[in-house]
Amino acid sequence: MTATHESPARSTRTPGAARTGRALPFAQPLLDEREQEAVRQVLAGPTLTHGPRVRQFESDFAAFVGDGHAVATSSCMAALHLACLALGIGPGDEVLVSAQTHTATAHAVELTGARCVFVDSEPRTGNLDLDLLAERITPATRAIALVHYLGVCVDMPRVLQFAQQNNLRVIEDCALALGSTCGATHAGLWGDFGCFSFYPAKHITTGEGGMLVTRDPALAQRVSSLRAFGIDRHIVDQRALPGLYDVADLGLNYRMSEIAAAIGIVQLAKLPEFLRIRRRNFTRLAAGLEGLAGVRVLAADQAVQHSSCYCLVALLEAPLAARRSELLGRLNAAGVGTSLYYPAPVPRMTYYRQKYATPVAHMLQAARISDTSIALPVGPHLTDEDMDTMAACLCSAIEELAT
Ligand SMILES: *Cc1c(COP(=O)(O)O)cnc(C)c1O
Repeated sequence: MTATHESPARSTRTPGAARTGRALPFAQPLLDEREQEAVRQVLAGPTLTHGPRVRQFESDFAAFVGDGHAVATSSCMAALHLACLALGIGPGDEVLVSAQTHTATAHAVELTGARCVFVDSEPRTGNLDLDLLAERITPATRAIALVHYLGVCVDMPRVLQFAQQNNLRVIEDCALALGSTCGATHAGLWGDFGCFSFYPAKHITTGEGGMLVTRDPALAQRVSSLRAFGIDRHIVDQRALPGLYDVADLGLNYRMSEIAAAIGIVQLAKLPEFLRIRRRNFTRLAAGLEGLAGVRVLAADQAVQHSSCYCLVALLEAPLAARRSELLGRLNAAGVGTSLYYPAPVPRMTYYRQKYATPVAHMLQAARISDTSIALPVGPHLTDEDMDTMAACLCSAIEELAT
C-alpha cells in the first residue's frame, strides 16, 4: 500500500506499511544553473583564490546576519579552530563545551591544547543547561563554546551575563543556526565569534566551507591573518613588492576558494526562501506527529526563539525507545531518510571518553537525546505532501512494531 497523498489524515491512521512515492533524503543541496554559471565564470577567469567573490560572499553574509564582520573559511571546523586561536585559548585553559553537539565544537578546543569541560543538555531544547555553568566553572575556565542545537538559539542574554560576571569569552557554533535569532540578534553575533558551516547537509552549501562572524574588527583582522598562514599583509592590496611579506603568527591555510564563494553567493540569495520552506515543513510535520503516543518532538514551540528549523528531532519514550533501530530501519525501507543528531554525546565518543572519563551523570540528558531520538528532514527539497507522507510512515511503522 502506498500512502495516499490526497488523504494524509486517513493514511496516518491506517495500519500497514505506508511508503513514500519517492525517496525523501535527509538532506539534498538545491543547486541549479545559477550556481553552475557562477562557477563557470570563475573558471573562465584568472583568479581562483584571494579574489572578489570571497569578499562579496563575506559582505553579503555580514549583511544577512545584520551586523559585524564576516570571514570565509574552508569549513566550520576551521572557523571554530580559528576562533579559539584568535582568543588566545591554549594549554592550561578550560573551556565549557555543550555535551550534545558535533565533535567539531570540542575538537577546536582540544587542538589548542586547552581542556574541554562538558555541560549537559536541558531536556526541552537539547541546548546546554545554563543552570550547570556555575557548577562546572573553575579558576582555569576561559571560555564557553556552545552549539545552538538544531537551530534553536540558546538563551544568549543569560549566557553573556554569566560570561561577563566570570570574564569568559563566548564562541557560538552556528553550523545549524543560519537564520536563527535570539531577540532581534542573529545567532553568532552575541558572543565573540559565531561559526557557520556550508557542508552539503546544512542550510546552504559551498561543497565544503564555513564562515566566521564577529562584531570586533580587531578579532576579524586577527582571524583573517591566521586563516592565511599568519602572514601580515593581504596579497592584493597591501604588498609593496609581489611576493614580499612577513609572518607574525603561527597560522594555517583555512581559506575559501573563489569557486566555493561563487556558489555561496548564489546560495545565500536563495536562503530566505529555503528558511521559509523549512519552517513550513517543520510546522506541518510537528502537527502530523502531535498526539502520537510514545513520541515527543523536541522544542516544537519554536516561537520562543526564531529557529532555523534545521531538522525535526523526535524523542521516543519507553518501550518504543528500545526499538529505535528497528523503527529507523522501517522508515528507511519506506523511503524516509533519517539521521541522528548526534549519535552520542561528545564526552562519550572514544577519544573524549579515554581522555576525560567524564562521569555519566554529567551527560544524562544529552545521552537520552542521543540514544532515544530520531532526526527527520524538513529541508527545502521536501514538500507539504512529503511531510504528510513522513508522518504517515512514522505512524504506521510504530503501529507495526506494536503488533
Ligand atoms: C556540521 C557541523 C559542524 C562541522 O561543519 P564543517 O563545515 O563540516 O566543518 C560543526 N558543528 C556543528 C554543530 C555541525 O552540525
